[in-house]
Amino acid sequence: MQVEGRIIICDAIDEIGITILKKAGLIVDYKPDIQHDELITSVKDCDVIIVRSRTKITKDIIDAAPNVKIIARVGVGLDNIDTNYADTKGIKVLNAAEAAMNAVSELVLGHMLSLCRNIPKANDGIKSGKWLKKELSGSELRGKYLGIIGVGNIGRNIGRIAKSLRMNLIGYDIFPINQEYVREVGLIKTDLKTLLENSDFVTCHVPLTTDTKHLINSKTLSYMKPTAYLINTSRGEIIDEQSLFTALSEKKIAGAALDVFEVEPPTNTELLQLPNIICSPHIAAQTKEAQELASTVIAEKVIQTLLTNR
Ligand code: NAD
Repeated sequence: MQVEGRIIICDAIDEIGITILKKAGLIVDYKPDIQHDELITSVKDCDVIIVRSRTKITKDIIDAAPNVKIIARVGVGLDNIDTNYADTKGIKVLNAAEAAMNAVSELVLGHMLSLCRNIPKANDGIKSGKWLKKELSGSELRGKYLGIIGVGNIGRNIGRIAKSLRMNLIGYDIFPINQEYVREVGLIKTDLKTLLENSDFVTCHVPLTTDTKHLINSKTLSYMKPTAYLINTSRGEIIDEQSLFTALSEKKIAGAALDVFEVEPPTNTELLQLPNIICSPHIAAQTKEAQELASTVIAEKVIQTLLTNR
């Protein structure tokens, strides 16, 4: 099926999506390094703007794009797009909701194992000539309680993986959690405080909104057990990093693993240098499979939406 239109792609995406869009007859302007000022002058004749996370689609960009019908994110979170303003202009905002689900879940599992089995410390020790066998006695995932904050696509998937490792699941979400899923994995639904008080591992999977900014702060961290670990692969601003620094340095919690930071790349070296934190550079969705899937899903959704609205 052929469709007409002009698309600007503002961030690096897997080429499979570009191929699909071109095959459908769309004119694709691929500018993965474009900066804000150039983007403003480039969107005038565009029907579709595609981004990942680098480019921010702000009010002034939307105002400079009178023909735009779709803004699409090759990923999940929409916090880099002014969705409210897009909505007032009748612009459809699309994302690739489930594309990163498996990749993110597997990184969460990697971080959980790294924390409780001291894998980064063991690796560093060996490489610096230290045999830390006695010092690095760990703990197991089996039988532990995993608290999932935000039981959406990723939260549910990590729950399934954790269940297969014989962990117990506690979940907190502002919306009702699918009953069939609750039965399938035996998840206990609670409020946030109860989840934090009872979990051995806490993993965050909420979108960044005004309600979730600093959801993990000095008060909520104080509910956690001193033996508990915190993992965040959602958005950096979910956690107040200053409060996390205090909780980790005063051993109020056992450790944390962060894939996302309040400022990226992170500048909070005081926090990053602590011995009980491990970090990755926002790579949760950085797998070949997830990027191919997200690029394909967005290309197909854009084509379908243009066809439906013509
Ligand atoms: P989702 O929309 O499927 O799930 C989010 C869940 O959070 C929903 O069930 C929602 O009801 C719940 N929620 C929203 N506000 C809440 C609140 N205030 N308190 C409790 N629960 C709340 O999204 P998802 O696909 O599971 O992704 C979750 C987030 O992970 C995304 O928004 C994105 O920011 C992040 N993410 C990060 C990466 C990465 O590379 N690190 C990759 C993909 C997604």
